[in-house]
Amino acid sequence: MRFVDQVEIEVQAGNGGNGAVAFRREKYRPLGGPSGGDGGKGGDVIFQAHERMSTLMDLHYRRTLSAPDGENGRGKDQFGHAGRDELVQVPVGTQVYDADTGELLVDLAEPEQTFVVARGGQGGRGNMRFATPYDRAPRRADPGEAGEHRNLKLELKLMADVGVVGFPNVGKSTFIAAVSRARPKIADYPFTTLVPNLGVASLGPDRSFVIADIPGIIEGASEGAGLGLRFLRHVERNRVLLHVVSYDPDPERDPVADYQALLHEMETFDASLLERPAIVAFSKLDLPEAEEAYQASLPAFEELGVTVMPFSAASRTGLIPILEALEAILRETDPARATSNDLDLGARPQDLHEPHNPEAAPHAAGDGADAQSSDEPST
Ligand code: GDP
Ligand code: MG
Repeated sequence: MRFVDQVEIEVQAGNGGNGAVAFRREKYRPLGGPSGGDGGKGGDVIFQAHERMSTLMDLHYRRTLSAPDGENGRGKDQFGHAGRDELVQVPVGTQVYDADTGELLVDLAEPEQTFVVARGGQGGRGNMRFATPYDRAPRRADPGEAGEHRNLKLELKLMADVGVVGFPNVGKSTFIAAVSRARPKIADYPFTTLVPNLGVASLGPDRSFVIADIPGIIEGASEGAGLGLRFLRHVERNRVLLHVVSYDPDPERDPVADYQALLHEMETFDASLLERPAIVAFSKLDLPEAEEAYQASLPAFEELGVTVMPFSAASRTGLIPILEALEAILRETDPARATSNDLDLGARPQDLHEPHNPEAAPHAAGDGADAQSSDEPST
């Protein structure tokens, strides 16, 4: 199961610097030879595939990528400096299209692979270059060439890293909406009756991952048993589950019983699903009833050996610790991601605005934090 992250972006390479018209000044010759240097080349805009990145998130917030212009040439035979190339990192697997023609320019499939998406303009020639025996004092110089400009469309096939499971109405979709900053499109989706909710959560640069709401594990029964579970199995690389439980006004429902019922459903369908690392989170803690139910459920969860992370999407508390716990598991199970461990650890998503609330902040990752990585074959 793949999803497509897409971003449209403009790239502008640097213009070449103009060639200079200048003449040497020498003591007894008012007009020396031509000394105007060439303009520098404009910077290229270059994409480089990077294993550490897993989404196009970082580019969603940059409309235009540009490289600086080359400097103009100067007198005394001085050439203008070239504009520095702008090296832009994109995830491995990014396909780059010309947005105007639809042409595929490059598929950056290999780590470290580079591609010049917009070439900087050549610098213009200074008048030094135009001197001939017949014209020793040319006044001619070339202007710099314009840098290339392009509208690009980038596409990346994404795989969901985190699957959110839970009973209907526990707040799965609301959680995804609260933590995600971009919504990838769903590609080649085989289940017409159940559409997953998707989002890209980000804890900072290079720290984003795809969260998919797995619909229909329980509610799917009416639409054909196990649709949601089948979906779950098809989510490749869906290496971590976020199991959401909550308070429900229905007196028949109980968060611990719901938790076990869902595990049972999953186990019946495919026992290996239970081996996936999982984090259990209790939602809607802004509601006093939910807070009460959470407290009441703790001993039973403890008995099961389950650590529960409380949160409220409505009041935006407890979200970051959950994302961090999910990310920690993703890193453990993905060597490519592990290399980014030490980057930007202080970064926080600016739009989460999490109020400091020590009471609501959980202290431990979910029970799955030390679980084995799943050997789920990709489909
Ligand atoms: P899903 O079926 O698990 O995807 O649940 P939804 O995200 O659709 O949420 C079900 C209901 O719970 C909706 O009416 C939401 O507004 C409500 N809800 C979700 N999260 C919260 C929360 O943090 N606090 C409160 N008070 N209500 C919430
Ligand atoms: Mg939903």
